[in-house]
Amino acid sequence: MNIILLGPPGAGKGTQAARLVEKRNMVQLSTGDMLRAARTSGTEMGNMVAAVMDRGDLVTDEIVIGLIREQLESDQGKGGYIFDGFPRTLAQADALGNLLVEMGENLDAVIELQVDDDVLVERIVGRAKEAEAAGQPVRADDNEESLRVRLMAYYKQTSPLIGYYHAKGDLQSVDGLASMDDVATSIASALRKSE
Ligand code: ADP
Repeated sequence: MNIILLGPPGAGKGTQAARLVEKRNMVQLSTGDMLRAARTSGTEMGNMVAAVMDRGDLVTDEIVIGLIREQLESDQGKGGYIFDGFPRTLAQADALGNLLVEMGENLDAVIELQVDDDVLVERIVGRAKEAEAAGQPVRADDNEESLRVRLMAYYKQTSPLIGYYHAKGDLQSVDGLASMDDVATSIASALRKSE
């Protein structure tokens, strides 16, 4: 089965995707991770991507759709794909729909993780502090200024996808404020409904 995890930065998409990979043998496709890999390439494209990401803005649809297309062509999605952080715009959603049709695949569910803004800020600032304390690198976009831009990008460009997938009958919403285990349980029961 192929699913999308939808939600603002800090909603817990990555955490839940990792659990699904373990439990269901699914393949996680995170455009954020792909872009973080691309930015270290030292190419002109990599440097451009880095500047946009650090500001908190969205990278162009063309770049992101290209990355997803490459992955779908090379990966064998055994247990299916979890799209994490993609699509983030209506154009990306349309492109994903077309790619899946080309591959003869379906989109089985879109899980929206619902979380309050103040909790997102707390989680992300907390994540940055933890990384710093552990001597690990802190993400350059995990600061208050970029976070403000990321939240704005989410509301302006990504949240319209909630209506888009609701209209298609694919959307299921889960309370992302619950404990990690409870969120995982809610996702599991949402997926059972779509199987
Ligand atoms: P978060 O969800 O915590 O903001 P991500 O790792 O998903 O983190 O994304 C980090 C950054 O990467 C985004 O702020 C954006 O600049 C870029 N990015 C990731 N996915 C996309 C996408 N699908 N379209 C455009 N830009 C993206």
